[in-house]
Amino acid sequence: HTTKTQDVIEQTEKYGAQNYHPLPIVIAKAEGVWVEDPEGNKYMDMLSAYSAVNQGHRHPKIVQALKDQADRVTLTSRAFHNDQLGPWYERVCKLANKEMALPMNTGAEAVETAIKAARRWAYFVKGVEENKAEVIACIGNFHGRTMTAVSLSSEEEYKRGFGPMLPGIKLIPYGDLDALKSAITPNTAAFLIEPIQGEAGIIIPPDGFLKQASDLCKEENVLFIADEIQAGLARSGKMFACDWERVEPDMYILGKALGGGVFPISCVVANKDILGVFNPGSHGSTFGGNPMACAVSIAALDVLVDEKLAERSLELGEYFMEKLKEISNPRIKEVRGKGLFIGVELTEPARKYCEQLKEDGLLCKETHETVIRFAPPLVISKEELDWAIERIQKVLE
Ligand code: PLP
Repeated sequence: HTTKTQDVIEQTEKYGAQNYHPLPIVIAKAEGVWVEDPEGNKYMDMLSAYSAVNQGHRHPKIVQALKDQADRVTLTSRAFHNDQLGPWYERVCKLANKEMALPMNTGAEAVETAIKAARRWAYFVKGVEENKAEVIACIGNFHGRTMTAVSLSSEEEYKRGFGPMLPGIKLIPYGDLDALKSAITPNTAAFLIEPIQGEAGIIIPPDGFLKQASDLCKEENVLFIADEIQAGLARSGKMFACDWERVEPDMYILGKALGGGVFPISCVVANKDILGVFNPGSHGSTFGGNPMACAVSIAALDVLVDEKLAERSLELGEYFMEKLKEISNPRIKEVRGKGLFIGVELTEPARKYCEQLKEDGLLCKETHETVIRFAPPLVISKEELDWAIERIQKVLE
């Protein structure tokens, strides 16, 4: 007699390309911070789909927006206007305090869009010689899995067997201002940075770095592009992680929680002097800016603001981090984070702890082998957090 869980995992392993190594759990239902397997076992989600469900699973207002829109129109393509896109543009521009946005679907596509915009800006506005534009990115970055994104990566495994890579990319150590200074040339179009590196293991740059780097980019006429796909939209305890240093990047790249975990949507947001480089025919996406995504995204942003999820993340994050720091275990190397975006770095592989936590009803995923990432939906209550802390203490002590 096999369980539904076993059947589904077998099917997945038989027919699915093996590009992931998930924990052996099947999720069949979810609400708020809780998920449930087909056998009815409940778990707390401490990963939030890599920060895509900051608003909690199936937030009623976001799901309602999806249902209402599904009853009206779902897709027009950009050959025609749709009545949700205009309101969405205004909403996201006002949130980011920028003049223009360009919607795509996934994070990696938004990164592609940012690189295309930066290159065109270099040629059309800055006056860089054709095909000479350079982009500076950071060692340890994660910008997605398309060819551009893996070309930006410093991870050999992300690139192995996929060459040739995209040219015109320079990497510097994360948080190293001198290295940034040395890397900038007259051909530099942009400096692309995650204000907090997520996949690298919740790495926070040295205090002041974001501000200094953004000032340097201004002086050197280089675009400062913030990939806030994972760290942004309230996750780090601020609406944008750049807010920690009062930095206004030239361009934001957003995704994940932009659709509340309900519908995929990503975008870049910047001023007209940058996004104005796009003209009809230069870029696009069949599903980019579709009415379902826009309606859902407006609701998702409303929830972030109305429910003060950034403030909540800040407050509960401080409390959570304090409790994690109290755990005494020589194998804990460091506890770090901002808001409810926390990494516990161990001196040994983290996977067995994640597996043990799963047995105790708490789902999280190791990142970069030795780091446990704790990033619950931001709607988590203090009581629910205490429930989690109890289990984490038990497993980690
Ligand atoms: N950029 C960052 C900072 C991310 O964390 C991710 C996803 O984890 C991406 C880009 C890629 O987004 P997607 O998986 O939606 O393509």
